[in-house]
Amino acid sequence: MLNVDLHCHSNISDGMLAPAAVAARAKANGVDVWALTDHDEVGGIPEARAAAADLGLQYVPGVEISVTWAGQTVHVVGLHIDETNETLVQGLAATRSGRERRAHQMAAQLAAAGIPDAFEGALKFVGNPDLISRMHFARYILELGVCADIPEVFRNYLTDGNPGFVPHRWATLQQAVGWIRGAGGIAVIAHPGRYKFSELEFGAFFDEFKRFGGAAMEVTTGSHTVDQYAQYAKAANQYGLLASRGSDFHGPGESRVDLGALPALPDGVVPVWHNWAI
Ligand code: AMP
Ligand code: MN
Ligand code: MN
Ligand code: MN
Repeated sequence: MLNVDLHCHSNISDGMLAPAAVAARAKANGVDVWALTDHDEVGGIPEARAAAADLGLQYVPGVEISVTWAGQTVHVVGLHIDETNETLVQGLAATRSGRERRAHQMAAQLAAAGIPDAFEGALKFVGNPDLISRMHFARYILELGVCADIPEVFRNYLTDGNPGFVPHRWATLQQAVGWIRGAGGIAVIAHPGRYKFSELEFGAFFDEFKRFGGAAMEVTTGSHTVDQYAQYAKAANQYGLLASRGSDFHGPGESRVDLGALPALPDGVVPVWHNWAI
């Protein structure tokens, strides 16, 4: 079996390692085909591509775009994108803008909840000043010792209904899929099992995604339980979407699943890489 890992992060967004170090870890873990998919950013691609070439690792240029759909945040991964495409580059810049202002608002809420200096604290973990994310705040809160691990931080802070949550208007689904397709890429719904949609909403979401030209969904991801692998394999086939596999690795010791460490896709789905020259 080819070990394909099409979702992970470097310190160009909210991962902990530089792109070349992520490539080296993917190679060491036995990954054959690898995509770096930083949030709303393609700045890590040149380093990732060069490192993969040095290591003999097959490389797929990627990105993970933040989207607001039906009032909720969803993520759309783009694979095999031309990262120099002007519309994509401008769209991602627009999507990133506002993160700093949001971060100051998050810090103010956290201060009121007894977590002081969170903007400066989060910034210590930021590799790219354009991309300050909730994950950077989570690392700071963990460092303070008020929570035992990252999942506990997100159960108590930074999420809807908890201190430090500031809703944000990201790209639209149509924009994200359009930018990816316009850059020659394949659009993939990231970790569908994380979205709090009703069955009806999921149906509308998958249908709309397909109508805009989306092609695949993640079935086997570090964000899904074992039961969800089967559940979303079924959904992928039901909606005529290809299936993707990606760890969503952010950093050693922090992520539940390491690069290349997921099980294979369930039988019966069509892998998103079925027609790639690999
Ligand atoms: P943002 O794009 O600033 O809203 O930050 C979202 C990031 O926070 C995600 O990409 C994850 O890295 C992290 N995150 C959000 N929710 C959770 C969670 N429940 N558990 C672990 N990480 C999370
Ligand atoms: Mn992240
Ligand atoms: Mn995501
Ligand atoms: Mn991700």
